[in-house]
Amino acid sequence: MRLKFLGTGTSTGVPEIGCRCGVCTSNNIKDRRLRASALASIDGVRLLIDCGPDFRQQIMEEEFSPVNGVLLTHEHYDHTGGLDDLRSFCKFADVDLYANKITLDALKMRSPYFFSENKYPGIPILSLHEIDAEKPFKVEHVEIQPVKVMHHKLPILGYRIGNLAYLTDVKSIPDREYAKLKGLDVLIVNALRIKSHLSHLNLSEALAEVKRIAPKRAYLIHMSHHIGLHDDVQKTLPDNVFLSYDGLEIEI
Ligand SMILES: [Zn+2]
Ligand SMILES: [Zn+2]
Ligand SMILES: [Zn+2]
Repeated sequence: MRLKFLGTGTSTGVPEIGCRCGVCTSNNIKDRRLRASALASIDGVRLLIDCGPDFRQQIMEEEFSPVNGVLLTHEHYDHTGGLDDLRSFCKFADVDLYANKITLDALKMRSPYFFSENKYPGIPILSLHEIDAEKPFKVEHVEIQPVKVMHHKLPILGYRIGNLAYLTDVKSIPDREYAKLKGLDVLIVNALRIKSHLSHLNLSEALAEVKRIAPKRAYLIHMSHHIGLHDDVQKTLPDNVFLSYDGLEIEI
């Protein structure tokens, strides 16, 4: 399995509009972060995790071939704002979208034209699959285990694919979900900034989760400019923890 980080930034992206801080004006490309998303490839099956407002720009860099499934973590715009651009992929087949009920309900409210009876020509044709966090499901032959995590009070989904788990926008993980995260080679988890935040893990909380889950390696995502410069933060991390950056590809 290969995974490419298409975006590693928080909801505003980095640089943040109008900000002149040291991170937002850095020349290091690792300090420029599009909204969080990833593309996993497993034996020819391509899975897109989240589809935020930077999707068009992110996917332009990739080979134009079918996306077999889109796994949504939750409804927030930074994770779903690019769904309209999936229309190009409907040339291959309807696009299969996997999400929990809260997320699907929000999409139907927000983008009713995707789902209307008389569809306007050219809109994306999305096939919706409601995910129950307790039940693993398959996309083609790839088995995926949903993981229920809490984004402050909102229950959202992370996904385990083989020995990789992708968790974003987590503030806490219910005790019973840790059993789904045993024996990981790679854990991807969010770390917003140094200071604490109501609905996102900060750096020290993310490192505590890495310690508890004990994967072989961990990659941090969904950073804001308040995390600091990529190279400075990386130096402070344990040997098996990496600050991800846009375009990074890993092999699992
Ligand atoms: Zn987010
Ligand atoms: Zn800034
Ligand atoms: Zn969110």
